[in-house]
Amino acid sequence: MKYDAIIAGASFAGLGVAKVLKGNVLLIDRKFEIGDGQTSACCSYEYFLAKLGYEEAILQVIDVEVFHCGSEDIVSHLNYPLATIDYKKFCQLLFKNSRAQFLSAKILGLKGNKVVTDKGEFQSDCIVDASGWQAVLASLIRNDFVPKNGKSFGIETTPIYKNEALEIWVNPKMMPKGVFWIFPCGDFSRLGIASYLGKTNIKEGLESFVKSFGLKITEELHGGFFPSKFREPTAGNIFLVGDSAGQCLPLTGEGIRPAIYFGKKCGEIIQQIINKEKTLEQGLKDYRDFAMSHKKYYTFLLALQKILTNVPNYLVASFTKFVNLKPVFKYCEKKYIDLADLK
Ligand SMILES: Cc1cc2nc3c(=O)[nH]c(=O)nc-3n(C[C@H](O)[C@H](O)[C@H](O)COP(=O)(O)OP(=O)(O)OC[C@H]3O[C@@H](n4cnc5c(N)ncnc54)[C@H](O)[C@@H]3O)c2cc1C
Repeated sequence: MKYDAIIAGASFAGLGVAKVLKGNVLLIDRKFEIGDGQTSACCSYEYFLAKLGYEEAILQVIDVEVFHCGSEDIVSHLNYPLATIDYKKFCQLLFKNSRAQFLSAKILGLKGNKVVTDKGEFQSDCIVDASGWQAVLASLIRNDFVPKNGKSFGIETTPIYKNEALEIWVNPKMMPKGVFWIFPCGDFSRLGIASYLGKTNIKEGLESFVKSFGLKITEELHGGFFPSKFREPTAGNIFLVGDSAGQCLPLTGEGIRPAIYFGKKCGEIIQQIINKEKTLEQGLKDYRDFAMSHKKYYTFLLALQKILTNVPNYLVASFTKFVNLKPVFKYCEKKYIDLADLK
């Protein structure tokens, strides 16, 4: 069967592309339903969710962030409040705003312009790999596409626990080169742990962290890898969006906003190809140029991630206190927002 576009992966990036496209589009994911299988803490900026018009997916708005570093508790009042979201509701809203057809199938291979799945083969000239850090399609083109290092790993639990602020802990004794967090979500919170080195045996660390609040980890943990290294935004004739292209921001691990931001641009370019306003080659080049123009910000944030995870805690605290000075904070926050702002 031939489609105007095929999108592999129906999470933030894939749905972000699908939302923009008007043609005959197939969206493939191994999940049974759109919005199944949350991996993330699902926190984004409130203004961003409002721009999308998806406020109804918001669980809690957060305007205070507390950074615990050694004996220091550094409190930031956010000019751009954050908001935790209901993953399923958010994905379903994105899908509702698209005209794509959803197919629950596992992607197994690629034969030229055909995507091979366990439910058959589907053909298109415009193929998007939005399959997350594993970049399933790009890896079929180049088996070293996903770098061996350059990814973090995190897990979360969701106990009943109310909190006002987003809280982040850096404690190298409990978790070297990693962080703990609480993202409040109304009646419950997402308590998590991540290793910037991509270490996966961190469940014990999460258990101790959760226990320090008198809580237990809930049965269902979620999480996974998220990339910290920016990757090529195209491979062969394939467009890559979101974690598959390493577009999750290093240091902060913010990947939802970039996935939708780059997804929008990718979708607009593909629509021009469908409308025959551009050739596939030109579209691939334009998307690549657009994505690559952001590489310098990713390189900077990755350098910061490396420095801050390798210096003593008191220097991390001093740096954070400096960034927290009102005019510096205002400047840095705006610069950070502008990295992936929807126009
Ligand atoms: C613990 C944790 C907490 C995080 N917290 C935040 C946060 O608070 N805010 C934030 O902005 N970011 C956060 N992130 C990062 C964020 O989750 C990712 O950057 C984001 O999910 C990337 O979206 P994506 O659509 O590119 O990839 P994914 O969300 O990984 O989606 C990939 C999709 O592809 C599908 N897929 C993969 N392989 C196949 C296959 N072979 N066949 C069919 N389908 C396939 C998957 O089922 C999935 O639906 C967090 C990540 C983790 C791990």
